[in-house]
Amino acid sequence: MTESAIEFRKICKSYGEFHVVRDIDLKVGPSEFLALLGPSGCGKSTILKMIAGIEDPTSGEIYVDGELVNYKMPRERHVAMVFQNYALYPHMTVAQNIAYPLTTPQKPRPSKAEQKERMERAADIVNISDQLEKKPSALSGGQRQRVALARAIIREPSVFLMDEPLSNLDALLRDTMRHQLIDLHRRVGKATVYVTHDQLEAMTMADRIVVLNNGIIQQIGSPQDIFSKPANLFVAGFVGNPRMNLIEGVSLDDGLVRIGNTTLKSNSRMTTQAKVTVGLRPTDSIAPGAGNDINAIVQSVEFTGADNLVNLRCDDSFDLNLRRPNTEKIAVGDRLKFGFEP
Ligand code: ADP
Ligand code: MG
Repeated sequence: MTESAIEFRKICKSYGEFHVVRDIDLKVGPSEFLALLGPSGCGKSTILKMIAGIEDPTSGEIYVDGELVNYKMPRERHVAMVFQNYALYPHMTVAQNIAYPLTTPQKPRPSKAEQKERMERAADIVNISDQLEKKPSALSGGQRQRVALARAIIREPSVFLMDEPLSNLDALLRDTMRHQLIDLHRRVGKATVYVTHDQLEAMTMADRIVVLNNGIIQQIGSPQDIFSKPANLFVAGFVGNPRMNLIEGVSLDDGLVRIGNTTLKSNSRMTTQAKVTVGLRPTDSIAPGAGNDINAIVQSVEFTGADNLVNLRCDDSFDLNLRRPNTEKIAVGDRLKFGFEP
C-alpha cells in the first residue's frame, strides 16, 4: 500500500481548558486534494498549522511521508503553506519573493544558477513570468496570490497547505483562481490540504472533504457523499445552498412520517412513534401527483435570475424554502402544490 502523505493519529489541541480540536484521525493520499470545510472558529487553521509545525499538538502523532514530524522544525517537514493574506515581502521583487525559500540557511543551499532556474520554472507554472521585476505593490490580488503559490512550489514540497487562499479575491477572480488551482494540482500532483469555509470551493476542488465543527470531524467523504448522504444534522444543514429544510416530525408505521399536518412517505426504516427530523432540499420538489403532495401558500419570493427562491407556509403547519424555475409565475399569497420523492 502506498504511504499516506499525511497521517493524523488521535490529534488533540487545547489551550488550557479550551479544546480547539479533538481526536482527529485522518489520512491524506500522496496526490489527494483534501478540503477541510467548516464554519469560522471550528479549528481548520489550527489543523493546518500543526501539519506545518507552526503549532504543536497537545497530544497525538502527525506523520508526513510516513515520518513522525511532531518534533521536527517547520522547514524540515517537506510542506509548504499558502496563506489568505499572501505574506509577500514588499521590498523584494516578484523574482526575489519566489526564490526566497532557496536563499535561507539550508544544506545544501542551491547555487545561484539553480536558484534562478527553479525560480523561472515556478513562475512559469503559475503564469507570472512577465512580472518578475515588479514589486508586490504593483500587482493585482490574483497576481500576488500566484506569486505566493510559486514561492510554495519552488520548495518542491511533498504537501501543499492552503489556508483560505482565495478569500481576499473578488468573486470573478476567485472563480478563475479556483480553476487555476485545480489545474495546478493536476500538474504538480502533490497532496494538498485546502482549508475553506466556502462549500462551493470544497465541493468543486476536493477529492474528499472533511467536514469539521467545534474541532470534531463530522464526516469524511467525496463531495457527492457529503451532499447526498450527510452523516448527521450538522452536515445536512451546512452543505447545500440554499440550505436543506430540516423539519421536526414523528415517525408512523411503514416508513411514513408526520410533519405538522402533512404525512409523507419515506424510504427510511424507522422506529414507530420516534421523533425524527425530515430533511428536504430546496432543489428537490417535484410536480404533484406522485404521492407526498403538499399544499402551500407563498410567503415570499426572491428572484435570483436563474430561479426563484420561495418561502412557503405548508399545510398550515410548517415552513419550507424551495428553489423554483424562473419561468414559474409566482407571487406572495399564491397557492402552490408540489411533491417530493419518498
Ligand atoms: P478556523 O481556522 O476554523 O476559523 P482556528 O483554527 O483559527 O479556526 O481557531 C479555532 C479556535 O481556537 C477558535 O475558537 C480560536 O479562537 C481558538 N484559538 C486559536 N488560536 C488560539 C490561541 N493561541 N489561544 C487561544 N485560543 C486560540
Ligand atoms: Mg482559519
